Formats: sequence, C-alpha cells, structure tokens
Amino acid sequence: MNISKSGEITIKGISGSPGICIGKAYIVDREGVNITKRYPVSGDRVQKEIDRFKQAVSKAKNDHAQIIESLDEDLIENLNILETHMVLFKDKMLYGRTIDTISNEKINAEWALRKVSRKVKIMFQQIDDQYLQDRVNDIVQVSDKIMSNLVGAQDIKISDINKRVILVAHDLSPADASQIQLERIKGFVTDRGGKDSHTSIVAKSLKIPSVLGLGTATVRVKNNDILIVDGSSGTLIINPEEDTLFKYEDRLARFEEYRADIERDSHLPAVTKDGVSLNLMANIELVEEVVAAKDYGATDIGLFRTEFLYLDLKRFPTEDELLCKYKELVELMSPQSVTIRTLDINGDKVNPYLTTIEEANPSLGMRAVRFCLENQDVFITQLKAIFRAAAFGNIKLLIPMISCVEEIIQVKQVIDKAILELEQEDKIFNKDIPLGIMIEVPSAAILAEHLADHVDFFSIGTNDLIQYSMAIDRRNRRVAHLYQALNPAVLRLIKMTYDAAKKKKIDLVMCGEMAGDPVNIPVLVGIGLTEFSMNPASIPVVKKLIRDLDTKKVKKNVNKIMKLNRTQEIYDFILKEYKDVLPFRDTDE
Ligand code: PEP
Ligand code: MG
Repeated sequence: MNISKSGEITIKGISGSPGICIGKAYIVDREGVNITKRYPVSGDRVQKEIDRFKQAVSKAKNDHAQIIESLDEDLIENLNILETHMVLFKDKMLYGRTIDTISNEKINAEWALRKVSRKVKIMFQQIDDQYLQDRVNDIVQVSDKIMSNLVGAQDIKISDINKRVILVAHDLSPADASQIQLERIKGFVTDRGGKDSHTSIVAKSLKIPSVLGLGTATVRVKNNDILIVDGSSGTLIINPEEDTLFKYEDRLARFEEYRADIERDSHLPAVTKDGVSLNLMANIELVEEVVAAKDYGATDIGLFRTEFLYLDLKRFPTEDELLCKYKELVELMSPQSVTIRTLDINGDKVNPYLTTIEEANPSLGMRAVRFCLENQDVFITQLKAIFRAAAFGNIKLLIPMISCVEEIIQVKQVIDKAILELEQEDKIFNKDIPLGIMIEVPSAAILAEHLADHVDFFSIGTNDLIQYSMAIDRRNRRVAHLYQALNPAVLRLIKMTYDAAKKKKIDLVMCGEMAGDPVNIPVLVGIGLTEFSMNPASIPVVKKLIRDLDTKKVKKNVNKIMKLNRTQEIYDFILKEYKDVLPFRDTDE
C-alpha cells in the first residue's frame, strides 16, 4: 500500500475483471448509517438503550478483532490504524460520552452516537495538528461501524442499489455479484477473493472492472470517496490526485477505444493465418447472457453453469421451472449447441437451503456430482428437464467434478433412471444427446483414457484443474500469486487429456478461464486444442489473436515450451515469441 502526501492511497489486489472505472465509493457493509432518527426514551428504557449501545460496540469490536487476527503478514503495515480503531471503540470520548448523552438527554443510542461523534470530529478538526486531524477519519469509521450494528444495516440488497457507484465490500458472493445492476454499478472491489474465483467470473461476464483480495479496502475507504478501479492491473486508488485522475481518464478512453476496435471484428471467423478454423464458444450463467454471447461472436454456448438458478431461489426448482429456462435457452441458440452442465454447488457456490452440513474443506467435499449422486431426486429432476429441453434444440450434457471411472458409471445409471421416469410419464424428450465430463480434477486427467470409454466428449475446466493440481484455493487471496495457468504441471495434465481424447476419438473443449486469456492461446493451440469456451467478453480479444497465429509456428514452439520446467520461463518465452500479436497491456508495470 502507498499513501502520497496529498492523501492518495494506492492498494494492490488481484485482478477480478479487466477495465477501468472512476466513481464514488459505496460501502456495502456500512449502508444505513445515515438513516438515523432522534426519538426520546424514558424510565427503564434509558438503561435498555445504553445496553443496546454497549452490545453494538462489543459486536463492532469483536468483528474488528477478527479482521486484525486474519491480517496477512504483508498487510501488517495496516496494523497501527486497526489497533487505533480498537482503542477508539471504548475510548471515553466516544464511548463514555455517548452513554452520558443517552442517560442525560434521554434519547436513543443512534442519535446520541451521531451527536457525540460529530462533536468529537469538529473538535479534532479545529486542532492545529495534522496527526490529530487525520484521526477524524478513524473516529468516523469507528462510529460508522457501531452505527451500522445499531441500525442493523447488514442486510442490504445489492439489487436495490440505485446509484452510479463503485461497490466496496468485505466480500461478495457469486450470488451477490450476480445481482449487480449493470446500468448502476460501475465496478466493485472487495477485501477478500482470489483469481478465477466464481465472483471474478461473474464480474468478467458483467464486463465491469473489479479488484479482489485488497485486504483492507473496507477499512480504508469511506462512502463517497473518489475511487479509481484498475481491474486490469488489480489496483485500487482512493482519493486520487488530479494528475492521477487525468492519467486514468486518458487510460480509460484508450481502453474503451481498444475494446470497441476488437469488438468491431468479433463476427469474423476464428481462423488462423494458415487457414485452420477454431471454435470459440461462450460460458454463461444466465439465459439473459445469450444476447451478449452472440454479440461477442460466440458460435455456441460451451458451458451453461446451471447453479445460479438454484442459488437465487430459496428452494430447489421444479422440473418444469428448469425446463422452462433450458427450453428458452436452446431455442434462443438453435441450431447452435448449448452445453448444459449439471449442478455444481457447494465449493464456493453455497446456499444454506442446499446444504446443512458445514464442511472444513468445501472444495474437497460434497460438491457438484458428489452432491448430485447423494441427492438423486435433485439430480433426476434436473436430468429430466435437460432431456425434455433437448426435444427443442441442440443440447450437450456435461457432468462436473468427475474424479474416477466409478462415478461416471453411477451417473449413467441415474441417467437411465431419469429416462425411465420420462418414458413412464409419457413426456416428450430426446435422450440422444452427447454426454461429456469436465476434466477438472487431476485424477480425471490421469485417467482420461479410461474415462473416454464412457463418454462422448471432455471439457477441461482449468479453474479447478489448477486449484486442485497446485493445491491453491481459488478464493484465497493469500495464495493467489501461486495460481499459475502456465505451470508445467498444468500443461502436462492438459496434454494428457488431449492425447487421450485424440486416441479415443472423442471431442475435446476447454472451458476454464485459461482459455479466455490470450497469453495462453499459443500454447493451447500448439498442444492441438481447437475448441474453447470462455467468458463472452474475452471472445473478441482471443479471436483477434487467433487470426494472427500460424499453427505451424505454435506447434513448433509448444515442443520447446513442454521442455521448460518453470512457469516464468514459459511466460517469458510466449511474450518474446508472440510480442507482435499479443494484445494491449497498458499498465505501469
Ligand atoms: C472450471 O473449473 O474451470 C470451470 C469451468 O468450472 P467452474 O469455474 O464453474 O468451477
Ligand atoms: Mg469447475
């Protein structure tokens, strides 16, 4: 973190989604702070009011202690400010005077706190001492925290936010992020979150800039502060100086020009310079994204993540509700294909009604197909809806998180049951659709040759393949720098999967975020992959690169790359070999 003399603060985080935005901060965790009213209290209600205030302080203090406890070593420079806040919670000035004001003036705790914190603020501002003046912010932040507990402000609904702002949150779940109203929210930043987490995937698909894993954004930023979010380099700037603002306004204009440029050509086919045709498809979470996918030039929907429908509801959807959504989607895409992936919940996509048991390692727990095999009624309901929708268009069925041969055999038994039920119910359906599995667990890549005997296609999910092969939690910012798509181990697992698919003559797609980053494309095309599914917004830039590639060159280079044993060497090699065709990387680094 960097603080300039004028008070401009720069914090480095993790790029959640590219792009730049400039706007006012809106702190999600502290909303409601300004909606206090004055009302009188009398008799024994005075003591109750004091107790309510004390409880709000205790809760704020406990929450704060937890933040301090979870502070990374590299953020230890923030410890001072956090510890100052800790002391301020029970400082006589704020704490003692608020209690006195409640009992002397017989007014509610919110009003008393507001009155006292204003007085203290004015008093500090009048002292001719920069250090003490700077403490004003600390007082505001501490009293805001107490106030939000008093007014019970935690339950703010993102979908209700009605201002052109940049959201600042401790954490946003993928479900929260998916509620963002595009015409209102310019971008968002969070304290938590890591690379290729589902939150960042949702942000990319929304096409708004975001920076995750900032550690202390919610401590540093106040409502209405001016922020610059540079999602491409993972930087947040708080209260920028005029020069910085100017520089970023210019950069924003150039980024938008560049984006418009590549989007203009996004309908041209993805054919390499030497005439090899590749297929670029879209990953989507919501049916509404089909329009964007087509606009960006996607040929098909290569991955429809179905869990968001489940997460938005407070119960499991019915077969007819699912059918209605799937049918709408396939009809919109027809005659092109839609790959529907069955439920992949738990991991980082949880909803309390879906799971009642807490797991120490949810990503290694009852996630995706494991949950579905344990909850066969839920699985059968979804499978039936998929087979029924297949009567209206071109569907492929994809099963996530397969880790061994037994699992796919069990899945096929459940599929048979679903088909039998549909027959008995005399419903219209189409069971002759391709069946595929995600290759996203290292054991599946190693066993790919055997798994290929049971399915029609593979789809490599690099987000999880990297997470599981390198033991890097996708959501954990502390290990995000270790998450490497171009790690030689990851490349070998991809090559193994490719070789198995080729030998067994089944189709192969890659649908992880790795496919959407142009720097990886020369290696993937060099290995032999021809089908990629990605965030719709990444299609134009990947397409532009493909049109500049020569497959003979990438194949020759991949032989050299596969002999390298360090990620950095691989990365440097690609940057050197393809520097003329790789896209815009406009950062200070
Ligand atoms: C993946 O793991 O690469 C993938 C595409 O699935 P998800 O990101 O939904 O886990
Ligand atoms: Mg996955």
